[in-house]
Amino acid sequence: MADVVIIGTGYAGMSAAALLTHAGRKVVVLEESGMVGGRACSYRDEKGYTREYGAHSHRLAHKGIANEVFKRLGEEIDFLPEAKDAKLIFKGRLWERPEGPMGFLKTPMLSFRARLVLLALLVKIKKADPAAWYDKTLLDFYQTSFQHPEIDTFLPFLGMTIMCPSPDKVSAGEVIDFLQRALAAGVGVGEPRGGSSRIFFTLRKYIEKNGSIHLHEKAEKIIVENSRTTGVKTSKTTYTAPDIIFAGRLPQVLELIDNSFLPAATIDYIKNIENSSSLVIDFITEKPVTGICSGILGVDIPIWARFQSNADPSFTPDGKYMSTWGMMLPWHFDGDKKIVEQAEKRLKSAISAIFPNFMPMVVEERKIVVPVMNGNVLTPAQSKPYRPDIQCSSIQGLYFIGDTVRGDGCSGDISFSSAMKAVDKILSA
Ligand SMILES: Cc1cc2nc3c(=O)[nH]c(=O)nc-3n(C[C@H](O)[C@H](O)[C@H](O)COP(=O)(O)OP(=O)(O)OC[C@H]3O[C@@H](n4cnc5c(N)ncnc54)[C@H](O)[C@@H]3O)c2cc1C
Repeated sequence: MADVVIIGTGYAGMSAAALLTHAGRKVVVLEESGMVGGRACSYRDEKGYTREYGAHSHRLAHKGIANEVFKRLGEEIDFLPEAKDAKLIFKGRLWERPEGPMGFLKTPMLSFRARLVLLALLVKIKKADPAAWYDKTLLDFYQTSFQHPEIDTFLPFLGMTIMCPSPDKVSAGEVIDFLQRALAAGVGVGEPRGGSSRIFFTLRKYIEKNGSIHLHEKAEKIIVENSRTTGVKTSKTTYTAPDIIFAGRLPQVLELIDNSFLPAATIDYIKNIENSSSLVIDFITEKPVTGICSGILGVDIPIWARFQSNADPSFTPDGKYMSTWGMMLPWHFDGDKKIVEQAEKRLKSAISAIFPNFMPMVVEERKIVVPVMNGNVLTPAQSKPYRPDIQCSSIQGLYFIGDTVRGDGCSGDISFSSAMKAVDKILSA
């Protein structure tokens, strides 16, 4: 018998498992696929390239939420030195990314009048109470006080900081919350040396001291008796434990449990989740295309890029260079190949406009379409107050973690944060 069974090995499940084993609890971790990491999985391929599922960075680097998990383990994430050369794509050109209020005041991307409006908007964000704005969109927030054609087109950049480029979709409260923390921290994002595989390697080291990870083992049923969990039935066996943590994407829990046991608000939330997806392409070249070590974000085009091997040569074999480019697909993308082809064309033409020699230099590319899901696209209905509680109110001993529940921050941060909250509850019970 285990103390806790954890379903899922993404950032959330692996963090919770490592923190619990570190505290002396015995855990069993189940993963239906053959690899740990979930949406952040990363591995070294047979040719020596580190392949990531989208290129992951950590907001606020050593001051961020992912590093908080590591600090609780007595560790620190090994971040690459901060490269101060982040760039933005705007009006088809590459610009220095402004940092902090002074950066916005000086940027040549915008006219003087527009810079003043942007600065006033940032001041309004700094003073705003996120709780008052979760229900509204970033566009609502902006339009209550401002109107300027250049800032209208610049607004997606503020949404992109939490990876939702549509100002009319993203929750203003989520953007305000993140930007306030970023302004206070004074750091942007951190890239872990060795990519996310290094993150999972460290977490795994702790888990294996007092627990086990079972790959290719799908949880099929969460067993509930008299309103409390007693175990999990999998494709191979049944594990009993007084506490169960579900660390998959919340819609997947509906397959594992009699839905009438779940709180109505959780079911409603799940039904209202709006899916989003991205096209992600790794490009391999035999010469560096640029010296940029940091990333690129599109302002008026929903794309992002990282030049991993410039910052961390361990990503590629000698003499090869890798960059990863991603583009958000239209909302509610349903797998239509034509849409992927159009996005690829648009992405490559945006790259060629900035780096005309790039495409002819590419010797290999890997293309994947990935679900980004809730954590990256926080609409008002998916914002913090509406995400389900970490502790299930109707079933004792059941916890939900991951980027679809009420953790702090956005994207992977919600997964790390919800894992810490669930562990605190279990350890203090
Ligand atoms: C292209 C892309 C780029 C991104 N970039 C960033 C970034 O730079 N920074 C950032 O913070 N976030 C980023 N994100 C978001 C981030 O990847 C996610 O928020 C995070 O990985 C979610 O982790 P999780 O543990 O909550 O869930 P997941 O990673 O989805 O893990 C859930 C796991 O549970 C398993 N599972 C589910 N059901 C079962 C079952 N019944 N039995 C056994 N196993 C099961 C799944 O197989 C999966 O491995 C990005 C996402 C994408 C797609």
